[in-house]
Amino acid sequence: MSQENAVRKPLPAPDADTAAFWRGLQQGRLLLQHCRRCRHVQYYQQATCRQCGSEELDHQPASGRGKVHSFSVVHRAPGPAFKADVPYAVLLVELAEGPRMISTLTGSSPEDVTFDMDVELTFESVSEDITLPRFRKA
Ligand SMILES: [Zn+2]
Repeated sequence: MSQENAVRKPLPAPDADTAAFWRGLQQGRLLLQHCRRCRHVQYYQQATCRQCGSEELDHQPASGRGKVHSFSVVHRAPGPAFKADVPYAVLLVELAEGPRMISTLTGSSPEDVTFDMDVELTFESVSEDITLPRFRKA
C-alpha cells in the first residue's frame, strides 16, 4: 500500500448488483429492495429476496427515518485515514421500513447518542461516484 493510499479512506466499489443503489445515493435517495411476493424489505442489494428467494424485487426510496438500535463510540482510529474523525459514533440504525443498517453519526457529538434516539438520513458526497448514507439526530 502506498503512503497516499494509507491516509485515504477505503471507498465502496459499485458493481452490477449495487450500481442502482449507489446511483440512488448520488440522487439523495437510499434505495431499499421490496419483495413483490412476500413484501419483505431488505437493505443491502442482492439478486433475490432473503426471506422467500423471489427475484421480483423493486427499489423504493427509504423515508430516511430511523432509530438507534445500538451504537459504539470509536476512540481509537482503525487507520491513519480516520485519525481526524475520532471520537465518532458507529450506529446500528433500525430504519422505519424495518431493515437495520450500519452507518455513522454526523452533526452532533458522539456523547449525545442514546439507544432508541430518533435519527434521520443525510447524504455525504465523498467522491465523484460515491455518496455515503449517514445519520443525524432528528
Ligand atoms: Zn420475498
